[in-house]
Amino acid sequence: MTCEKAEQWMMRYMDGTLTEAQAEALADHVETCKQCKEAFLAYDQMMESFAALPQVVAPEGLEEAVMLQIQAIPAPQRAVRYSKKDRLKFWFGGAFALLFGLGAWLVSNQEQVLTYLANNEATGQYAKALLPVAQMMHSQRNELLVVIEQVLMRADAILTALAGPLLLAILGLCVVQVMRLRRK
Ligand SMILES: [Zn+2]
Repeated sequence: MTCEKAEQWMMRYMDGTLTEAQAEALADHVETCKQCKEAFLAYDQMMESFAALPQVVAPEGLEEAVMLQIQAIPAPQRAVRYSKKDRLKFWFGGAFALLFGLGAWLVSNQEQVLTYLANNEATGQYAKALLPVAQMMHSQRNELLVVIEQVLMRADAILTALAGPLLLAILGLCVVQVMRLRRK
């Protein structure tokens, strides 16, 4: 046996992974080789001092406590990232909704708004100029409302005629949905 091999086997001997035959062969070499004997004794002493170290036993419940603390750490908030295109869409959508709302509000309250503005010193002149236009638009709006009403009345008539079949169709769809959910 070479000294190199003896040293490798010494490690395995300390780990307890040598076969009996290998352990005997190692013992033979260590007995006859002064260098390896010294090395073996050094290893042996090291192992003994390791063994002499007090064993630390983790207190009961330590693992759970640690895991609880880990879970308590708030997960880093992931910022929702929108692409430039999406952000542009949001801006346009928001601006459009705002303008539409403002426009709708102005159309339905324009007379009051303009009257208010007309009585305001700073805006009075402009508002007075706009008031006739607003009144004209108001009458046009009334015409528009009549048209919408007519359309809605027609739609109402159509819906009344279709109510029976529509109800049946909706009921059928509901039944299909329930059956699909049940299959899941
Ligand atoms: Zn040796």
